[in-house]
This record gives sequence, structure tokens and C-alpha cells, in this order.
Amino acid sequence: MKQVLFFLLLSNSVFAAELHGPHTHGEMELLVQWQAPNLEITLVGSAHDLIGYERDPRSAKEKKALRKFDQKYDPLELIKTNPESKCEFMQGRSVSDMFSATSHKHSLLDKAHAHIVGLKDHVDFMLKFKYECQSAPEMNINIFSRTPSIKKINVHNDMIDGPIEIVLTRKNNLYLVQ
Ligand SMILES: [Zn+2]
Ligand SMILES: [Zn+2]
Repeated sequence: MKQVLFFLLLSNSVFAAELHGPHTHGEMELLVQWQAPNLEITLVGSAHDLIGYERDPRSAKEKKALRKFDQKYDPLELIKTNPESKCEFMQGRSVSDMFSATSHKHSLLDKAHAHIVGLKDHVDFMLKFKYECQSAPEMNINIFSRTPSIKKINVHNDMIDGPIEIVLTRKNNLYLVQ
């Protein structure tokens, strides 16, 4: 199975309004939207859990954790689908105010700068992955080994802040899409 990886990193906060996680440290929210053949996965977690801090990065270690975010949370490693479903990864992106804390420009004429984040509020990361599958897959969510502080993932089918359908844990991390 050949998979396509288009990973796009957005360094602005335009999409911050899309983050609707209730933001409880130790938990992640997972939205699964399946309409054959399209599968869309949205994961929201706290910066505290995903990179270990929740304000602008200060030490070299903190800067590295942010820079390597997309490697640590590579969608092809993070979520495994069963081969029978023949899922193909199509697109992924990660969105967070945290990325604005790295040096960036808003336009070519702009001066490079970094924003201060996390002074007044918590900071989330949102990961969105798109797949095409021949049938509804079984997903193995492999985040617990990467981020030991996460104890559970609340799975939603309707909206990311809607009713919880099932709770995944380290021991029970399989989710059958329906
Ligand atoms: Zn800026
Ligand atoms: Zn927080």
C-alpha cells in the first residue's frame, strides 16, 4: 500500500477558532467523520501534554520539541488502519497558536518576529488527517506511547465538543469506525 504524505504546517493562528477541545490535561479529543470513501480525523490535545509546556518556548529543548512536532506526531505512525480497509493517507495538517511562537513573517515585507503565547490561556494543538478508504477501517491510535501523560482519548462522531461515544485508553486503543 502506497501512502501519500502532504503535510502542511500553518504558522499563523487564523484557525485557532477551530479548536474546541475542553482542554483537560491528560485527555485528548478525537473526532471521527466517516462518509465512504472519506475519513476525516481531528485530534485536539493540550500543549502541556503534547510538547511538555504551554507558553512561548524558552530553552533549546522546548524550542526543539515545537520544531519537531510534526515528526513526533507523524500521522502515518500515530494512526494505523487495518490493511483490509485499504486506507490511503491523503492530507494532514497541524494547527496551534503555539506555532506563532516560532520566528515567522506574515508577508515578504514583514519583519520576522515571534508572538508571546499562553500568558492568559491554555494552548491546544489540533491535528487534522484525511484518508480515503475502501471500507470502514479499524484504527489503532498510537499516541499513548509517545505522550505518557495522556491517559484517555474521548471519541466523538458528531462534533469535537459533542457527546462522547467511547473512551480510548493505553490498553484499549482500537477504534472501529462505523
Ligand atoms: Zn506574527
Ligand atoms: Zn493547559
